[in-house]
Amino acid sequence: MFIFRMLECTYQCCFIAGLIAEISPGMHYDPLMRLLLVEDEIDIQRFLRTSLEEAGYQVEAAGDGKTAERLAVDGQFDILIVDLGLPDQDGISLILKLRQLGLRAPVLILSARRSVDDRVRGLEQGGDDYLTKPFALAELLARLRNLLKRNSPSVIEATRLQVLDLELDLLRREATRSGELLQLTTQEFVLLEYLCRNAGRVVTRSMILDKVWGMRIQPDTNVVDVHIYRLRGKVDGHGQKPLIRTLRGVGYVLKDR
Ligand code: CA
Repeated sequence: MFIFRMLECTYQCCFIAGLIAEISPGMHYDPLMRLLLVEDEIDIQRFLRTSLEEAGYQVEAAGDGKTAERLAVDGQFDILIVDLGLPDQDGISLILKLRQLGLRAPVLILSARRSVDDRVRGLEQGGDDYLTKPFALAELLARLRNLLKRNSPSVIEATRLQVLDLELDLLRREATRSGELLQLTTQEFVLLEYLCRNAGRVVTRSMILDKVWGMRIQPDTNVVDVHIYRLRGKVDGHGQKPLIRTLRGVGYVLKDR
């Protein structure tokens, strides 16, 4: 058993080291797509999360089926990566359940199960593509891009966001209000994109800190308030109908009507 664990560990380390060697500074960056990663091997999950974030994806990760279900229902994901061997349920059952709940985003199955039967079953039961472990990171990224391209309505939707007269071009990273270009910093653009994706819904300071700044625990900081203040000056500052509303003690909402 001990020897088996050792071998397994060595295999995983080689696998991860192999992946690390493939990251290059010139890697293609996808537009900010929301991706749900369902993987219970913590080292692989951590590594994939970092790599996918470096490739421009906004990643949520789950280590079991229950958490994945909750995240998939709450968040609007453009694409999912699902491992088949999960601790509480089979990945195929999870995909079937998510499809029944109305999930339309493409699903890439990532699994150590290599048999033709397993691959056919995965593709027939809700998976859109199947990649076996170990895999090359460049191939995973290429397959994700292909799936997103195939699912073109979601790409069109995800590369342009519009809330009333506010428009965001996610490829050019430009925002306009009534056709006028807004001079935003990178961080302000990411913050505005997050508000647009949640238009009409209240987002709290800690949600913003988590999603925009990647801080899990809310530190004693006013970084959100400062950025909202500046952003409001640019978005709402020209006598137009105010879009960014503060709900004192709760958070913010971008008005969508
Ligand atoms: Ca697994």
